[in-house]
Amino acid sequence: MSETTKTLCPYCGVGCGLEVSPPAQPGKPINRDAQGTPIWKVQGDKSHPSSQGMVCVKGATIAESLHKDRLLYPMVRNSLDEPFKRVSWNEAFNRIVDRINQVAATQGPNAICMYGSGQFQTQDYYIAQKLLKGCLGTNNFDANSRLCMSSAVAGYIQSFGADGPPCCYDDLELTDCALLIGTNTAECHPIIFNRLRKYHKKNPNVKLIVVDPRHTATAEAADLHLAIKPGTDIDLLNGMAYLLLRWGYINSEFIDECTVNFPAFAEVINHYPPEAVAQTCGISQTDLETAARYWGESGQVLSLWSMGMNQSSEGTAKVRSLINLHLMTGQIGKPGAGPFSLTGQPNAMGGREAGGLSHLLPGYRVVKNEVHRREIEEFWGLTPGKIPSTPGMTAWDMITGLETGDVGVLWVAATNPAVSMPDLERTKAALKRSPFTIYQDAYYPTETAAYAHVLLPAAQWGEKTGTMTNSERVVTLCSAFKPPVGEAKADWEIFAEVGRRLGFVKEFTFSNSAQVYAEFVEITKGRPCDQSGISHEKLTEKGPIQWPCSETLDVTVTSLQDSKRLYTNGRFHTPDGRARFGAYHSRGLAEPPDPSYPFVLTTGRLYGHWHTQTRTGRIPKITQMHPEPFIEIHPRDAISLGMIEGEWIEVRSRRGKARFPVKITKGISPGTVFVPMHWGALWAEQSEANALTHPESCPDSLQPELKACAVNLMPI
Ligand code: SF4
Repeated sequence: MSETTKTLCPYCGVGCGLEVSPPAQPGKPINRDAQGTPIWKVQGDKSHPSSQGMVCVKGATIAESLHKDRLLYPMVRNSLDEPFKRVSWNEAFNRIVDRINQVAATQGPNAICMYGSGQFQTQDYYIAQKLLKGCLGTNNFDANSRLCMSSAVAGYIQSFGADGPPCCYDDLELTDCALLIGTNTAECHPIIFNRLRKYHKKNPNVKLIVVDPRHTATAEAADLHLAIKPGTDIDLLNGMAYLLLRWGYINSEFIDECTVNFPAFAEVINHYPPEAVAQTCGISQTDLETAARYWGESGQVLSLWSMGMNQSSEGTAKVRSLINLHLMTGQIGKPGAGPFSLTGQPNAMGGREAGGLSHLLPGYRVVKNEVHRREIEEFWGLTPGKIPSTPGMTAWDMITGLETGDVGVLWVAATNPAVSMPDLERTKAALKRSPFTIYQDAYYPTETAAYAHVLLPAAQWGEKTGTMTNSERVVTLCSAFKPPVGEAKADWEIFAEVGRRLGFVKEFTFSNSAQVYAEFVEITKGRPCDQSGISHEKLTEKGPIQWPCSETLDVTVTSLQDSKRLYTNGRFHTPDGRARFGAYHSRGLAEPPDPSYPFVLTTGRLYGHWHTQTRTGRIPKITQMHPEPFIEIHPRDAISLGMIEGEWIEVRSRRGKARFPVKITKGISPGTVFVPMHWGALWAEQSEANALTHPESCPDSLQPELKACAVNLMPI
């Protein structure tokens, strides 16, 4: 293979287009990494509509991760005390199939579960759903999107009747006011931030409001930074709604014709006068009023959010409270306006489309809906009633299921729960008790591999062909440009082979990922995420395509035109076509600070690292940028505790402890401390942020509150 290949960055949901070319190019020196190993050359794809050639450090260095510490062969062991031994794929498959059959026969199919990943391509997700929810008859497929985006999913479904961000990236450059809440966009979605920042600089009248307890790089660019106390987002949003209503900045026509439940919402926000809200949030009343005025006086208002809203025990209520502001002011379905969730992972969107959470089915269907279950059963040729009517285990349910013995087979793929799950001590103890864990990943070692009985080598970015959908609903074909390392296989191929060996031969006759995608898009026909007009062939020919894209649309005309925004006609996916106001009082943090644990710990990401470092921890440029974990403390707190810059301290919560060097900064509010979430036991044994966090979850989205817990700080 010698030509340039167009593909997508496999890190975050911005979904930047990349062009990849071989290490050796005629007339040019061989492209090498810092150690001298020839590596593929990666640059931004200027023709990609979402990123226009821009990439951040993660995308620019991705090729360095292709050859380092790869898992090359299947390996097995009978117990966690034994070393792994290399086996053939045939032996590994036989072991898995025997165990699945045995557990299905003795404990039933609901004792089998899979924990997947937003790193999957849509094809991987789809085949996993067909295997688990279709063939095995259990809804126990959940993905790490449960820790990331499930509150956004629940918020969209409850407010609009369907999942799916209604905006597009062009709205970043068409808005009059952008409210960024619970998102450090500059570090976590840098290319989106670049577009917004450039536009903001060129247009000084455009207002940029950032809501974050930390003074981040994002907040640095804001016209107005509201450093609210953790857990007071709903107070702030209801307080802004109170002022918008009092000041008459509402769109009565839109409310009357396109929404329901406004009176109940108006009654709730009546309890959020500005004096009280300012005090609760720890901001000035003037700043609160300025935020409401910026919103009310702007022709187009865009809001962006991410984990600061989603990772909360009231995550769905936060998302809906933000959407309420858009509904009451009619700020949706038009250029430069709307609520816009920034997806964490590169294909969490594709996962949602394929039904990749334990309460979902493919094509934006839900398990609890009988019609949806029948549609999928018919499509997959199953006997009616095969798909259970109750949602399967969430990621955290799988951990507690290991504790109770309800899980007989745990299959983890492309994610690293031994770092990313809350309450890590409990998580690890549960993983240790697992009777049979299959761990499928591109890398070895990882923290989770230590808890596996079977290791399966997965092909990764550049080694398999499939599709990914980014935050603005743009589907890109990610083409393989090199063969997989060792004996690695694409995730969907592994799932399909297990399916065939379990006896579901006709269900998994696919010989390539284009055929998998062709079957998947059929199931989306007529659904809100209709992709029936998209195929691998069209993506190759036309480039990335945005959904909805039905088979009747001519993508040469409609691509990135007619499907740019959802709800442009004010009609939503609810039975009566109207959006729903959600009326919520603020409940605050699940674990507020108290005299024993007086600080609020908040966690987050850094610019260079990705999640648990399975890739970025192996890239020197990034490890030099972020050499070690740290804890941010306000100078006032540092003085009162007698702590000095660089000193290692111990942080304790009710669940565990961790150690970090102190970083004193006015960028964090007094009473709050911040720790990055990237370091697991492999990289820094005693600095695991999630040793401290708790699993209390949002009752609607079942997303844990990874963003905040109560801690105390001790000198070592
Ligand atoms: Fe990759 Fe996200 Fe960086 Fe774009 S912004 S290059 S998708 S990590």
